[in-house]
Amino acid sequence: MLRILINALRTGVVTTRYPDEPSLPPENFRGQPIFSTGKNLPPPEVCPVDALSQHSATGVRQLDLARCVFCGRCAEDQWVGAVTMGRDFELAARRRSDLRIEIMTDDTRIPELQPALNPEADMDQVSSEIRRVLGRSLHLRHLDAGSCNACDWELTALLNPVYDIRRLGIDFVASPRHADGVVITGPITRNLETAVRRTIEAIPDPRIVIAVGACATGGIFGEGYANLGGVDQVHPVDVYIPGCPPRPEAIIYGIMVALGRLDARQLSNQG
Ligand code: SF4
Repeated sequence: MLRILINALRTGVVTTRYPDEPSLPPENFRGQPIFSTGKNLPPPEVCPVDALSQHSATGVRQLDLARCVFCGRCAEDQWVGAVTMGRDFELAARRRSDLRIEIMTDDTRIPELQPALNPEADMDQVSSEIRRVLGRSLHLRHLDAGSCNACDWELTALLNPVYDIRRLGIDFVASPRHADGVVITGPITRNLETAVRRTIEAIPDPRIVIAVGACATGGIFGEGYANLGGVDQVHPVDVYIPGCPPRPEAIIYGIMVALGRLDARQLSNQG
């Protein structure tokens, strides 16, 4: 017992102060790709999950952060220098369209960066009622709709002493009837489609639906005999949290955005 106490005192407080204080990811962390203007940029075919695209008529290139798995392939080989993997993890957005980012080239105008969206103008999906009722305390049901479990492990990490999400008034519950919202990981597999719909319906209004990870946000597995695609194929999503998997702070950021405690930033893709 004494040894445990001595070890605890030696270890000290390990809990992160994020989001009150910034969090720096590890050196080898890969965040969103950053594209440099005036350089030879990778063609869409390079991306294994179709996160890069180019409009056939205008030539405008786009990065879909909801689909990006941050693999770094577009920043390798001849594209070293033209593309770098950023370290930003605060990528959550309230609208799917906010995650489709135009890649600026020399021919396109670079817009002025805006630090944050106007939260009042951006509350079309997360109502002010949700902020009023759930802003200070939130209970979430986690639902794995068919994931590989990577996102689920990151969600589990939110409860450990390092991230300790309960310090923010957020907790996970076993029943959707006791929940204020649902966090969904994985693509919506056909075997679990009914479970997803019923789980969401069982949560009392107002409720929050949060999609976590590239399978749930971007539906990278597409529609097929086994999958329907992303969460928004079965229900409107309040917040999309990109990543494969998103790190725990990225999930905390997304939940804070869902509650209106933090503003979703306007994402840009320029170095
Ligand atoms: S980092 Fe993203 S955009 Fe680049 S190749 Fe990988 S998935 Fe595609």
